[in-house]
Amino acid sequence: MSNGMTRREREITDINKIIEILDKAKIAHIGLVDGDEPYVVPMNYGYVMNDGKLTIYLHGARRGRKLDVMRANPKVFFEAECDLQPFEGDIACRYGIAYSSVMGKGIATIVDDVEEKKKALSILMKTQTGKDFEFEDKMVAFVSVIRIDVSEFTAKYRPMPAMKL
Ligand SMILES: Cc1cc2nc3c(=O)[nH]c(=O)nc-3n(C[C@H](O)[C@H](O)[C@H](O)COP(=O)(O)OP(=O)(O)OC[C@H]3O[C@@H](n4cnc5c(N)ncnc54)[C@H](O)[C@@H]3O)c2cc1C
Repeated sequence: MSNGMTRREREITDINKIIEILDKAKIAHIGLVDGDEPYVVPMNYGYVMNDGKLTIYLHGARRGRKLDVMRANPKVFFEAECDLQPFEGDIACRYGIAYSSVMGKGIATIVDDVEEKKKALSILMKTQTGKDFEFEDKMVAFVSVIRIDVSEFTAKYRPMPAMKL
């Protein structure tokens, strides 16, 4: 992946700041390739960051377009953002929005193993709520769980413009 990020001074490389974004964002836009068409699905997620290696977990219904697409092509891209703060300017091109965001690519796997599904749902609930939840076998039977093994990710922020005194 090209990481020739424009406005490189806005790149975030501090892993703790990236973790903060992943804790706050709650929703990821998952980019898929459906044949020769792009397809993007917003989803809640959970994540694990282990020694700089990022794993994302998703859950949802057991059928639908995104699952069909992932089975045919497991390559995915994701983006998640937080700290959105619109700001105004004296002319149109000085309006904007402050943000922090993370994006990256990975391979999606539909998880069948019951123990991994239970673990993934606990991780997802921890990311979403900050609370610990445990799942029983029968609870996980009704949902699909997707694991994204992220191979590369980057993070970026745009600060609020400096106040003019
Ligand atoms: C903030 C947010 C969080 C969400 N979190 C989750 C989650 O954690 N898990 C989860 O499974 N789903 C979540 N959803 C719903 C998700 O975006 C999809 O609607 C859902 O997962 C079904 O996707 P699918 O590919 O199986 O679509 P299908 O049900 O197979 O639908 C196919 C068609 O329906 C239309 N469609 C599907 N979803 C949407 C949509 N969201 N908006 C408009 N049109 C749509 C598209 O045209 C698509 O081609 C969330 C949605 C939002 C907005």
